[in-house]
Amino acid sequence: MHIEKVEAFHVDWGGSKSAWVRITTDNDEYGLGEASPMANGSASLEIIAGAFRPLLLQADPLAHRVLQDQLMHHHIKLGPEGAFAGALAAVDIALWDLKGKLLGQPIYKLLGGAWRTELPFYASIGNNGQRNVDEVCRVVESWLELQPAQIKIRFDGDKTQRDVDIAGDMAKARAVRKLVGDAFPLAFDANNGYSVQGAICVGRTLEELGYVWFEEPVQHYHMGSFEKVAATLDIAIAAGEQEYTLQGVQRLIEAGVDIVQPDIVKTGGFTGLGDMAALARAYGVDFVPHQTQPSIGHTANLHFVAGLTHSHHPCEYNDNSGRQNVVFKVPIQPSQGKFIVTDAPGLGLSVNEDELNRRIVPWRN
Ligand code: CA
Repeated sequence: MHIEKVEAFHVDWGGSKSAWVRITTDNDEYGLGEASPMANGSASLEIIAGAFRPLLLQADPLAHRVLQDQLMHHHIKLGPEGAFAGALAAVDIALWDLKGKLLGQPIYKLLGGAWRTELPFYASIGNNGQRNVDEVCRVVESWLELQPAQIKIRFDGDKTQRDVDIAGDMAKARAVRKLVGDAFPLAFDANNGYSVQGAICVGRTLEELGYVWFEEPVQHYHMGSFEKVAATLDIAIAAGEQEYTLQGVQRLIEAGVDIVQPDIVKTGGFTGLGDMAALARAYGVDFVPHQTQPSIGHTANLHFVAGLTHSHHPCEYNDNSGRQNVVFKVPIQPSQGKFIVTDAPGLGLSVNEDELNRRIVPWRN
């Protein structure tokens, strides 16, 4: 058995695009993977189609770790971060989906089994920097109808600006606390919006308000700033969605970050993320993967978290629009506050092939 075909393509959702890969064997089984969606994931598709495909064709589809190491080191100067790691991720997720289908097992079983197959989620609510206090409360209320285990308010401001509206941000944090009551778990995501002093000021308010974590308070590449903020505040500091390598995650942990959040579509898929989870376990910090993609990325993340050792935080759920459901026979959505991973092989996604094929825009195939 060998890899016969590697297709890199956009899926056109009408207004947005995803960067997916389909890897097919000589016995006609296939797996699907997804790359990080930044700028439509086009750079990752180019790396897969131009650089990775020649190395993958004819290879053993079960050799995911060997293949990842070969792809990475053969083309290391294209990376090792950003779109390059996203390309590695798409290939790895597709190989794990394929492996599960070939062996007739869901991915979480191949990873060592599930601690739980019903996974609570947290509502990850973006763009609150642009809303007023009332609008923030209304959008939080609408998400509460889905029974999330936690709410995270993200600010998603302009990353070239800092400390734009500290008083307004704290007012929103207070209003959301009042809305949900004292016991409900809340998280606050600054999306790199503060200086060290701004972050410490906001962080002290979040401590008073009993928030669970304070995410990306400062620029993600300023390890020294993370170090100062983490050393000063008691609230758990979270970061890692902009780290792509094992060494990058190690630097964050050594800077004092309490919760690391790498993303399966950005960090080498199950193989890359698994190494990072082991690293976090060695340091004794929490591992809560970042995830914003509604179908493949989300489902891959659920399988990963189902098998994640000593995990006690809910999974991220960001996009409840249902815009990608048309390609799946069973829509991917929570039921009574939980996502369920089934016994179906691989990712367990039941793809409507005709609909998917209609939406595929090939990348240099
Ligand atoms: Ca974030």
